[in-house]
Amino acid sequence: MHLAYPSISSVIHNVELYDRKGSAMARSGQKALLERLRKLDQERDALAQQAKEQLIARANEVIKELNKLGFNYRLASSSRTREARGGISPNKPCQICKFRTDPPHDARRHKAQGRDKKPFTQAQLRDFGYTRLD
Ligand SMILES: [Zn+2]
Repeated sequence: MHLAYPSISSVIHNVELYDRKGSAMARSGQKALLERLRKLDQERDALAQQAKEQLIARANEVIKELNKLGFNYRLASSSRTREARGGISPNKPCQICKFRTDPPHDARRHKAQGRDKKPFTQAQLRDFGYTRLD
């Protein structure tokens, strides 16, 4: 009886085929996992948004109650930029100096100059610890 052993090269070929199939399966499994994670992330965002809206509605109710009692409150998000809160924009030059400094400053820094406001001199900037940027 003749036993038909597979040749080495055909074994290697089969292993390679199996490997390729296996990694393709692993890849598609990974893709599905990532897809699920992405979906969960979206779901989480949607839920967080929903929860936020509900909490804001509740907070506004509470604030309304406070204001009815004569207090003056309002809801504010701290995610507003520093500039929106009346801070200094690091990208805008000072209205008086017409240049930017590091750290940034604005016209308010010139208050001490009284009515006749002038751009800061190099010496003054040095005293304040400011570096002229442009
Ligand atoms: Zn200035």
